[in-house]
Amino acid sequence: MEQTSNKVIVSLKDIFVRFDGEVILNHINLDIHEKEFVTILGPSGCGKTTTLRIIGGFVNPESGDVIFDGTRINGMPPHKRNVNTVFQKYSLFPHLNVYDNVAFGLKLKKLPKDEIKQKVKKMLAVVDLKGYEKRPVQKLSGGQQQRVAIARALVCDPEIVLLDEPLGALDLQLRKDMQLELKEIQRSTQTTFIYVTHDQEEALTMSDRVVVMNNGVIEQIGTPEEVYNEPVNAFVADFIGEANILNGTMIADQRIRILGKELPCVDKGFGKNAPVDVVIRPEDINITSVEEGQLAGVVEKVTFKGVHYEMSVRCGKCEILVHSTKSAAIGTTVGLSVVPFNIQIMNKLLPFYDNVIEAVVGYGSEEENYFEFPLEDETVRVEGHFYPEGTALRITLPPEALSLAGDGMGDLQDVYIESVVYKGEHNEIILESDERKWLMLSDTDEQVATYVPLSFDFSKATFETVNAAQEEK
Ligand code: ATP
Repeated sequence: MEQTSNKVIVSLKDIFVRFDGEVILNHINLDIHEKEFVTILGPSGCGKTTTLRIIGGFVNPESGDVIFDGTRINGMPPHKRNVNTVFQKYSLFPHLNVYDNVAFGLKLKKLPKDEIKQKVKKMLAVVDLKGYEKRPVQKLSGGQQQRVAIARALVCDPEIVLLDEPLGALDLQLRKDMQLELKEIQRSTQTTFIYVTHDQEEALTMSDRVVVMNNGVIEQIGTPEEVYNEPVNAFVADFIGEANILNGTMIADQRIRILGKELPCVDKGFGKNAPVDVVIRPEDINITSVEEGQLAGVVEKVTFKGVHYEMSVRCGKCEILVHSTKSAAIGTTVGLSVVPFNIQIMNKLLPFYDNVIEAVVGYGSEEENYFEFPLEDETVRVEGHFYPEGTALRITLPPEALSLAGDGMGDLQDVYIESVVYKGEHNEIILESDERKWLMLSDTDEQVATYVPLSFDFSKATFETVNAAQEEK
């Protein structure tokens, strides 16, 4: 039984945060309801902790409002907010026993001794540590220490508890147990929990709603079912659960082309022949005979996973992941089919035509057959082509003309990796430089939220002089 109310308890409005000139939170909006378990989920460095710290009062936004119970509280110090935080490092007082750790905040509040005793006792029962009062915290296991930290946060009756990867230090089994316990504690205490994690399974298990963040923005807010079954874009689909993400073309309403075949789907309104991202979950693909399949492919890998077989099926250049209770032998050709409802269509994160540079030639040498142009504070040299100084050019680089130069020899030195999405054939990587975004293809896994040098292979580029292009019109 869900017990969340509709009352908004905390609201972030158009929050903008910059650290050292770098945008960390880019105008985010978020409403959190009373008694809700909300999880902020996203890859490392996307701004989850900063969002939590804004609510806790440890960080003040450059612009935007933090509203608590209808009142703007920007600038209010943490101890004046009715909020408590549980960190990954439990921050317990090592010289105090369990009772004194939990009672600490109540003693600060100068509550009567009897009341403190009662409250601590009740809270230790909630976190399943009855009888542990006298134990030194250093003699407790990781999970027990974490429960003391949670009891300490809850005992002062905060309206909101902020939890920053609180299970991060625990081993997998304990972590899973604690996830269920935490959810139960939240339910029984009727407290709003705002939880930060980069673990999607954890987010889906515990939350009433999940906030998926990427690169300082919120990509999607929804129930666990919504973000899993109806991801708004390829990033969310890729980050939450396993997914086959493919390039497709929307032939017409309810008709999609993927892997060279036309399939019926349920989506409408993308326009005719629009390039789209197509998401199919591995468990939604059925293995059939070749004749019955909508697609056909060769089984390359089979792993038994207890409930299902995980299979990798090669369809042309693409590798398709299938979860099926039926197995098939490696090397056999099988049919694959998907019901229309299970084909999710979404707008592309970035259209292909964005890799276009509008440049003016700064220097050119006809003899040596090269020219240079300025690009975002760097000078880029193009060998094998000549244009005289002052020529206005439009240079189009297909995604395969971009590569990451590991040796510091890039044409642009510090380009940010915004997202990496595996498309069955290779990774589609979205990069951000000072003034624009780039789309690159790569066979290697790249680390999001890092800075890399980017190189252009101009032998794959097309060049148009802008004046000539206008004359053609
Ligand atoms: P993780 O899961 O790795 O903890 P996160 O999503 O919680 O990541 P944040 O801790 O919010 O991310 O950090 C977002 C970005 O802001 C990171 O690039 C981080 O290095 C930077 N950052 C965070 N705090 C500060 C600070 N006080 N000064 C400068 N940069 C900061």
